Formats: sequence, structure tokens, C-alpha cells
Amino acid sequence: MLVFLDTEFTHFVRPGLISIALVAEDGREFYAERTDYHRDACSDFVRETVLPLLGRVPGAACSRSELTERVHEWFEQLPEPATILYDFEGDWQLLVDAILGRTYRSPPANFGEPLNLDNSSITHPVFEKALNVTYTQDWPPHHALADARALMAGYRAWRAALDKVIQAAPGAAAADEGDMTQISLKLTKGDLAKIDQAAAVRRIGRAAFIRQACFQIIAGKGTV
Ligand SMILES: [Mg+2]
Repeated sequence: MLVFLDTEFTHFVRPGLISIALVAEDGREFYAERTDYHRDACSDFVRETVLPLLGRVPGAACSRSELTERVHEWFEQLPEPATILYDFEGDWQLLVDAILGRTYRSPPANFGEPLNLDNSSITHPVFEKALNVTYTQDWPPHHALADARALMAGYRAWRAALDKVIQAAPGAAAADEGDMTQISLKLTKGDLAKIDQAAAVRRIGRAAFIRQACFQIIAGKGTV
């Protein structure tokens, strides 16, 4: 299952975790705030924008070691392995850091693959529009839980748009209207032959192959 991650941290230089949110596509959510981060290490931006947003989720406050325990428990109750999506590599590193803590040497069950959403997806107008409408006065940007929820909304809208393109392919130019203009998927007969060949090797159909290929591209891994 997909799990969307966001963190807030002290500073871009030697970041220390302040808060962390995980939002699963089935609605499960995890949110925690450390009580023992170093306030002195916070950048001016964090002091002015991030810290005032803390303390609005009951029960979220905990120490670093308690946070590690809680994240482990949360992953272990998931029904299946998580693919963890984020838009900044630092989020992933802070999650891994939180997971391993001092007492754990291995990640919990269901701690799956990372998927770093690249710029071409997160800056797409469909993505940005869906992301931005989730924010409210109570849940503004730079609150990790609000950001993780927004990331999920943006990703879902963008995937739905991409799926339309994929359904429209194979064909020639599949995207030629409105927001879809930024996605250009032009497949020639030669391209389709290559796709079919690669799909046959994997014993999957053409549509499934294109879907997987797009997933790889979204993950910033280039083409398959
Ligand atoms: Mg954030």
C-alpha cells in the first residue's frame, strides 16, 4: 500500500527531526512530535513558521525513543508492505533514522520500498492544484500531517490524470487538452513493438508494462 511521508526538522544543515507524519492510502495515519529536539538548532524559518504549528494533535508529543517505538508499532499493524512516497530525500533519511533509533537494528515488518516523487510530478499543475486545496487555516503547510495529506491528494489526482493518458495510449499523441498538455506520450509503431517485446519478457500486457514504466519514471529511475 502507498504511505505518504512528511517531516519537519530543525535545519537543512544537520537536520534534527521535530515532527513526522505518515498517511496511508486506506486512511490510517501516524503523527508524532518530538519533545526533545534541539530548539537552539532551529533555523529562523522553522522558529517562525514550523514551531507555532506544533501541539495541535492530542497525544502526538513523545521523546525520540518513544517515537521509534510508535513508528515500529504503526508499520507492524499495516495489512501489507508499504511503499513510502515523499518529495524530499531528507524526509526518507529522517524516517529511517527514526525507525532505527538506538535499540533497533532492523526495520519493522511492512517497511517497504521508498519512492521519491520527482519534480516532474510534484510541479505538475494537476498535482499542485490538488495538493493546495487540502490546506486550511487549521491545517496549513509546514505541519507534517497537513503536508503528508496534501501530498497524497496531489499524487492521487496526478496519477488519475496520468492513468487517463495511459488508457488513451497506445495511439499517437495521447495528451492534447488542458492540463494534460504537459504529459506528452507519443508512441510510434516502433515504440509499441519495443513495449510489447519488453512486456512479453516480463509476461505482462502492454498496458501493465506502460503503467510500471510510468511508475519508474515517477520514481526518478528513468525508463525501464
Ligand atoms: Mg512539511
